[in-house]
Amino acid sequence: MRHIAIVGSGPAGYYTAEAAVKQWGEDARVDIFDKLPVPFGLIRTGVAPDHQSIKAVARRYEKTAIGDTVRFAGNVEIGRDIAIEELTELYDAVILATGAPRDRDLPIPGADSANVFGSAAFVGWYNGHPEYAALAPDLSGRHAVIIGMGNVALDVARILSKTEAEFEGSDIVAHALELMRDSNIETITILGRRGPHQIMMTPKELGELLRLERAVPRVENADLPPPESDDMLDPGQRKSVTLLREFAALSPSDRADKALSINFDFFASPTLIEQEGGQLSGLVVERTELKDGRAVGSGETYRIPADLLISCIGYRTSPIVGVPFDERAGRFPNEEGRIAPALYCVGWAKRGPSGTIGTNRPDGYAVIEKVAEDIGEGAGKRGREGFDELAQKRALDVVTFRDWQRIEEAEIAAARSGAPREKFVDIESMIAARGA
Ligand code: NAP
Repeated sequence: MRHIAIVGSGPAGYYTAEAAVKQWGEDARVDIFDKLPVPFGLIRTGVAPDHQSIKAVARRYEKTAIGDTVRFAGNVEIGRDIAIEELTELYDAVILATGAPRDRDLPIPGADSANVFGSAAFVGWYNGHPEYAALAPDLSGRHAVIIGMGNVALDVARILSKTEAEFEGSDIVAHALELMRDSNIETITILGRRGPHQIMMTPKELGELLRLERAVPRVENADLPPPESDDMLDPGQRKSVTLLREFAALSPSDRADKALSINFDFFASPTLIEQEGGQLSGLVVERTELKDGRAVGSGETYRIPADLLISCIGYRTSPIVGVPFDERAGRFPNEEGRIAPALYCVGWAKRGPSGTIGTNRPDGYAVIEKVAEDIGEGAGKRGREGFDELAQKRALDVVTFRDWQRIEEAEIAAARSGAPREKFVDIESMIAARGA
């Protein structure tokens, strides 16, 4: 029997569990730990609430979760409730699938001002992550600024732009919907330190900006490179740039009835966040030039007004006591997923925050291949039996998958009309909802 522990129940965690079941079938036991009482990580708290079709992948993880081979143990934080050394003693392999839940620091003065948020916090807020549920961003100003030109920047811009009616069918949490109902935002400026050819935005997500009820994207023609230069781009990126060209070609009549403008500002690197009387007021931006693919400051600066600022510049993995950590890269140092004997990583914790949900599937299968090479038939460790003993000794309140199903039933029952669920946004309510 092989005993496998997976830390983190997001896509990387569940695809790895799926791979383990494929590899060993009944000859393995897989325990998936999560510090939250609810599973699915990024699917629940990262993927945008209006992208329900992406969230539907959780149904596939449920198939892996049901049965005796794979077990969910929620409300258990590895590194706090159980030390990593205790886990490696109990299991043949411990695989860290903890993702990248922290914001990459915005390295400019003023980044700690009020109403300046990283995307982990802001996205966590509208998705009901317990850590960020109380964020309460001030949406009373007219100007929002988003730093970064990736898909997260697009998610944030779209969510800030939608009307209440456009959230129908989404599981955006009530506290976010309520604040957004009274939002005064008129412009959302998306700042990219490089140019249109270097955006990290994908066509489907960009195209959504053309279908917003009260918002319209704006790109200045002068910022676009000559059309023939798009030929050298790969097809996906060419599609994205073609959409930017479509945005630039929109006519005044296309904008006429739109109250909100989503402005793309390229070659613009933020250098300073300004405050007035403790309130965020603006952002100083330096024009850049592209040199060998990198953004280099030109020395020319300008100011843009900002009442709300969200930096969407990527994520970092959280360190775990007892596990080596690469501070610069913001993830665990590893060789093809191997960190140390019996200790592995997978997904964003392994390779950094890039790729789609689906990228984690081959990643999960690849790490299980390495584990299989290393552990043979298992070393007779105690696995979940040993964990259960430890959990009892420490009075841990472990949430099972069956418990989660009850929590989910309660969330579905509480849904407002047209919504798939109303999420619990604090740990106590989640735990209470599992019932006796
Ligand atoms: P990302 O794709 O890496 O984009 C980060 C952006 O931030 C880039 O434009 C980057 O510019 C910029 N940036 C980084 N450091 C900066 C700095 N110091 N100052 C100014 N700009 C800076 O990251 P992401 O948007 O967080 O997305 C993470 C992953 O999740 C991606 O793979 C993304 O595709 C995926 N995702 C997918 C979806 C979807 O499919 N619907 C939705 C959300 C996220 P440079 O290029 O110049 O570094």
